[in-house]
Amino acid sequence: MRVLLVEDDEPVAESLRRGLLRYGFEVDWVTTGGAALSHKDPYDVVLLDLGLPDTDGLDVCKALRARGDVPIIVISARSDETDRVVGLELGADDYVSKPFGVREVIARIRAVMRRAQPRGVSEAAGPDAYGTRLTIDRKAARVRLDGEEVPLAPKEYDLLSFLTEEPGALMSREQIMEAVWDANWFGPTKTLDVHVAALRRKLAGAITIEAVRGVGFRLEITDGASPS
Ligand code: CA
Repeated sequence: MRVLLVEDDEPVAESLRRGLLRYGFEVDWVTTGGAALSHKDPYDVVLLDLGLPDTDGLDVCKALRARGDVPIIVISARSDETDRVVGLELGADDYVSKPFGVREVIARIRAVMRRAQPRGVSEAAGPDAYGTRLTIDRKAARVRLDGEEVPLAPKEYDLLSFLTEEPGALMSREQIMEAVWDANWFGPTKTLDVHVAALRRKLAGAITIEAVRGVGFRLEITDGASPS
C-alpha cells in the first residue's frame, strides 16, 4: 500500500515515514501543497498536514477530493475543532492531531482503507468473517466462534484484532508489542506469549498462531472448511 505523505516538518515526516515503512507501507513524501497536487505516481491514501509552507492544507484537501475519492487523513498541529470540522466537510476521511503515535496513524489508515474498499462477499459493515467459524465484529469488539460469543480479555481482543488484520503475515514481537501494548516497549514480552496461548486455547480449530523463533508470530485461518 502506497501512502502520499504531505508534511513540511522534517522530523515529523521522517519518524512517520520510518514507522510506516516498518509496517510494510510504501511512502512518497512531499513537503508542499503544490508538490502534493502535481504528484503523478499512484497512491492509496493521503496523509495531509494542514500547515504547509505554500498553501493551506485545507485547500489541498479540497482539490484532491475534487479529483477523486482517494482516502485523505488530515494531520494537524492545530487542535482547533473548526479545522477538524472543515477538513471533514471538505472531504477528508479522518483527522489526527499532533502529537500522534505511528500506531494511531496506522490504525486510522487501516480503518479508512477498510471503508474505502468495495464491499465484497460479506456485504455491508457486518462482522468480518475468517473462514467459516470465526467472526470478528470490529465495531462491537465481539468475537464469535461457530456463532457463540467467545469471552476475551481486552488485550486478547486487541491482539486477535491486530493479527487478523493480515492473516498469514509474520509479525515481529516488537510490532505486536507496539501495536497492542505500548508505543515503546523495551521490556520482556512474556505477557505476549501468555495472550497468544489464551487465544490458541479459546479459538482452537479456527486459527493457529505459529511462533517463529527469534522473530514473532504468524496467524493462519485453519477452520478446515476449504482444502486449499
Ligand atoms: Ca506543517
